[in-house]
Amino acid sequence: MKRLRRWVFTAIAGTSLALCMAVMALVARSFWRDDYADCTVNLPGGSVVYTAESLRGTMELRVAILPGVNPSRSSALAAIPIRWRLRVFPVGNDPAYPQALWRFAGENAGNGLRGPGPGRVGIFFPAWVAILVNALLPIWRLTWRKAIKPGLCAKCGYDLRATPDRCPECGTVPPKTN
Ligand SMILES: [Zn+2]
Repeated sequence: MKRLRRWVFTAIAGTSLALCMAVMALVARSFWRDDYADCTVNLPGGSVVYTAESLRGTMELRVAILPGVNPSRSSALAAIPIRWRLRVFPVGNDPAYPQALWRFAGENAGNGLRGPGPGRVGIFFPAWVAILVNALLPIWRLTWRKAIKPGLCAKCGYDLRATPDRCPECGTVPPKTN
């Protein structure tokens, strides 16, 4: 059980590390290309557009209600964005929210999500936050081994008090200590 937990944690940390590296690549690219993904969800009351953008070291997530429609707040938030389309633009000369390089910034234009009429809400954030968040688990996983307590297996952390010569979980033979 302990071994399974450890394996699952390692798998999640590995996925997180892969994500972290993918975000780093995306951020490096964002100074050269403006990656813009959007997804339109049609609801009985109208359409809702979700967008995600990576530009100049910042990221933005936004929910917009198209002009002239009046979906209720709850139906807008219940819409699940599935079919995304990616568009790539050259990075222009506009500063593109430089404040979002070091802090979160909210956007609430038009009527926000409260309608009626056009409105949108969004959040801009520094891309390094996404890198940092995805780096936490891998860092924790990598420093884990150093924090092994005496009496525990150095490889898997199993309690070796009953079997000090060999770990029954992973087979590791602990170094002799006298
Ligand atoms: Zn072990």
